[in-house]
Amino acid sequence: MSVKVFFLCLALLVLAARLLLDWFNLQYQKQNGGELPPAFASKIDAERLQRSREYSRAKGLLGLVEEGGGGLLTLIFLFSALFPWYDQYIRSFASGPLSEGLLFFGLIVLLQGLLGLPFSLYRNFVLEARFGFNRMSFGLWCADLLKSLLVGGVLFVLLVGGALLLVQSFPQSWWLWVWGFWAMLTLFLLYLSPVLIEPLFFKMSPLKSEALAEQVRLLLIKVGLQAGKVLQVDASRRSGHSNAYFTGIGRVKRVVFFDTLLEQLNEKELLAVLAHELGHWQCGHIRQRLIKGQVVVLACCYGSFLLLQKQSLTGWFGFDELSFAGQVLLLGWFGSLIGFFWTPVSSWWSRRQERQADNFAVDLVGGGQDLATGLVRLAKENLSQLHPHPLYSRIYYSHPPLLERVAWLEKQTKK
Ligand SMILES: [Zn+2]
Repeated sequence: MSVKVFFLCLALLVLAARLLLDWFNLQYQKQNGGELPPAFASKIDAERLQRSREYSRAKGLLGLVEEGGGGLLTLIFLFSALFPWYDQYIRSFASGPLSEGLLFFGLIVLLQGLLGLPFSLYRNFVLEARFGFNRMSFGLWCADLLKSLLVGGVLFVLLVGGALLLVQSFPQSWWLWVWGFWAMLTLFLLYLSPVLIEPLFFKMSPLKSEALAEQVRLLLIKVGLQAGKVLQVDASRRSGHSNAYFTGIGRVKRVVFFDTLLEQLNEKELLAVLAHELGHWQCGHIRQRLIKGQVVVLACCYGSFLLLQKQSLTGWFGFDELSFAGQVLLLGWFGSLIGFFWTPVSSWWSRRQERQADNFAVDLVGGGQDLATGLVRLAKENLSQLHPHPLYSRIYYSHPPLLERVAWLEKQTKK
């Protein structure tokens, strides 16, 4: 069996595994979605439960089509005559490695974006609208699209163009330079994104409720994080979904509440959610994620350097010659195959951090009751899937499944 055939088999196996997992998840929901554990029974009625089942199913089916279609198109492109033709075509009018690389990847990214547009339209204006979540006008959707194109374009030229220049300038050690350059950009973006990028899409402001702001201030003092910012964002302009997140390092550390979340939870529940987010700060999760990400990027850069130096991929795929960009594309695709096997590890790590943050919140607010009721209320408002397939959640879930999480939190209260 040639290496190319081996790759094709591996890719088909991974695609089949992904689609099967989606399918298992849909079936599991169908079979078990009607049951409610006692902790939820008084809070979610039969009608809500039915709607959440329908919503999960509709989202799951769309995901299945998107994943299957995307996966197959990628394979057709890479394993047919299209790929060498595209490689040749770009080379025929590019004037050097830099323009060649930018054109090569730029057109592919654009094409991917174009193919994704119908899905984005359907998701927002059909699926989300049907369940009452979409609040976006078509105008706002278009404006978002244009701004994303602009921001994406600038970042693309910086990231890809910068890396290509470094590859040319340091042929024997570019892997280290490219990694260093990307690491620096990541760090810059952490500081610059709240000032340059986020305001293009969202309006962040201090908490409007004075009473809540005062409680938040007291909680921040309690954990010694007075310098951190707690903000609210006008997420309701786009969607009825609610959430909270933490981000940033150093002086740009902040917790952000969606305004929809502020409407849905009571003050105690909001403080419990905040305590969880503060747990991420206190446990150093941002730092850990950054370091983990950088280690992975460094390993990928070095691995790519070794494979590209020997031109291994060109031979493996049976090509006489392939541009540098073409080889990098193959590498990226190969990396995405390996990424599938890495996903469960990464998810496990993330769930572990979420449990640590929950632990922290329980200690800080003296019990898990408020976080538990808050999470159940959020699940109800967002029509969250309550019954993921155990294998599916183990592989993909960044947070522990809700039933498990709430059961654990409620136990902490009774201690
Ligand atoms: Zn969290």
